[in-house]
Amino acid sequence: MAKESIKNPELEKGTISVSTEDIFPIIKKSLYSEQEIFLRELISNAVDATQKLKFLSSRGEATGELGDLAVTISIDADAKTLTVSDAGIGMNADEVKKYINQVAFSGAEEFVKKFKDAGSGDEIIGKFGLGFYSAFMVAGEVEVLSRSYREGEEAVRWICDGSTTYTLERAERERRGTDIILHITEEDKQYLEESKISEILNKYAKFLPIPIFFKGEQINNTEPIWRKSPTDLTDEDYKAFFKELYPYAEDPLFWIHLNVDYPFNLTGVLFFPKIKKDIDPRRNQIQLYSRQVFITDEVKDIVPDYLMLLQGVIDSPDIPLNVSRSYLQGDPNVKKISNYITKKVADKLHELYKDDKEKFQEKWDDISVFVKYGMLTDEKFYERAEKFCLLQNIEGEYYLLEDYREKIAPLQTDKTEQIVILYTSDKDKQDIFVQAAKGKNYDVLEMDGVIDTHFIGLLERKQEKTRWVRVDADTINKLIEKDEPEAAPEEDAIPEEKVDEIKALFESVRPNETYMIQTAKLGEEALPIVITRNEFMRRMREQAAMGGGGMEMFGSMPESLNVVVNLNHPLVKKLQRSRKKESLAKQLLDLGMLSQNLLSGQELTNFIRRSLEMIG
Ligand code: ADP
Repeated sequence: MAKESIKNPELEKGTISVSTEDIFPIIKKSLYSEQEIFLRELISNAVDATQKLKFLSSRGEATGELGDLAVTISIDADAKTLTVSDAGIGMNADEVKKYINQVAFSGAEEFVKKFKDAGSGDEIIGKFGLGFYSAFMVAGEVEVLSRSYREGEEAVRWICDGSTTYTLERAERERRGTDIILHITEEDKQYLEESKISEILNKYAKFLPIPIFFKGEQINNTEPIWRKSPTDLTDEDYKAFFKELYPYAEDPLFWIHLNVDYPFNLTGVLFFPKIKKDIDPRRNQIQLYSRQVFITDEVKDIVPDYLMLLQGVIDSPDIPLNVSRSYLQGDPNVKKISNYITKKVADKLHELYKDDKEKFQEKWDDISVFVKYGMLTDEKFYERAEKFCLLQNIEGEYYLLEDYREKIAPLQTDKTEQIVILYTSDKDKQDIFVQAAKGKNYDVLEMDGVIDTHFIGLLERKQEKTRWVRVDADTINKLIEKDEPEAAPEEDAIPEEKVDEIKALFESVRPNETYMIQTAKLGEEALPIVITRNEFMRRMREQAAMGGGGMEMFGSMPESLNVVVNLNHPLVKKLQRSRKKESLAKQLLDLGMLSQNLLSGQELTNFIRRSLEMIG
């Protein structure tokens, strides 16, 4: 038999029957930007063939030594070939005809049909399902040299240039297994460069379950931790794995090990990175795998938006990968997976909170953006997060949402029975107002994150009879209006008819009309001038600045500032009698502005000159 094969090596020349003509140009064009996946496909096939062999051997259906089962990738620069070799089940001549000529080519045909249906190249995810045929994206000619694991089988060589004609001949191969030899085209010669191949392997093959060798070294970790049982792992294991994924990142705060096998199959580890107060624009931090083969880091439709702030790995053979994105969103498995992850993440956070409140509080700064973002975008997550979402006051104390309302209700309920939550977005800049609130024993929350404006809006919609007001939205008595008896008239009170004069005086010295002059009796201890920003107008502006919602008009409006002149203050009283009314009024207004960081440029220079003169 062997002799004959050498005498007459050619078994047949044949034609592969496909019904769609010219599949090749379409494939080449459609996958142009993802050309490199050809290597992933070939290595996946090699890994599959090896796993099948291991399985058969474990059942005693494949006899003989298993030997070294590594998959090897090699480059022959002179011959201009790139080869993927495995010691898997291999194929005999009939199997090559069946699997390569038929399965692989009809797979390609089907792929093209899907591609055409999807309309444009962007539409398809089409990442899986092309398989072996993708080799022709970079090779002018592909050789398959294979020998089946079954005893007595001969090796065969199949050669094809991507058209529908092929050659099949007897060949020599010492061991069982398959070599896929790609004759790389001139145009694609980058795939003959070691660095390029290393890069691709590092992306797709890093966690494959069978050892992968390139340049004499194993490049993968065959047992990534997400496939192991959490009980067998230590914190150090998780941290080391995190470093493996993101070599330059700081240690994660904590992680969640995902592990389900019903009603869908999913494993993975999600890490909470330190997010701080900004929403990190880095995307694509979660990697999606299917049986340890890297698929994509574009998980947009698979995990909810806010979970994209997390990092790590999700591995599921149940996510359909060879279909369009819009299909993916409607896919029931994807929906279930997404719900599952949301629930797991919320459960984990709740558990961390319950187990060690202090430790959770320490981490709160780093996870609050994540939690708030989740609450804003996912109703279910909101409900779960109520049990661990914290509010922090300027004293550094933390409260759950409902606990906080209860805590402040006695002092901070206004005359309409609404609970008024006071907050500062910058406790240094708004210190004067914070102090005023403290003077009344009110509690002040720190809300200085990027999404806090939206978050406050959300809480107001959710919590009944509750209003959020920034400390500088009004003068202290008006922040939380109560039924208070009118103060007794002062002896030296400014007469009613003079009040308009004072107002006019300040109007004449204000920098421009965005400063609205008002008068009020704020008490002797309060400042002569208090500059406030109306809560409603300020929020409109902030939301417009963040974009959207038909609020562009607010964004272009100048900020409106209320200058409240305190009629009880001795200096204001003095104004009417002063000979230098104007410069005194200006000085008072400037001090008010200075306290709010509103003085700059010429105004500031003038203020300093005037102050020096006055001191002199
Ligand atoms: P898929 O892997 O999705 O079935 P492919 O086009 O990649 O489609 O491969 C077609 C078939 O060819 C495979 O199902 C397998 O039976 C066979 N095959 C491909 N590569 C190998 C290999 N390295 N060893 C053994 N069989 C292989």
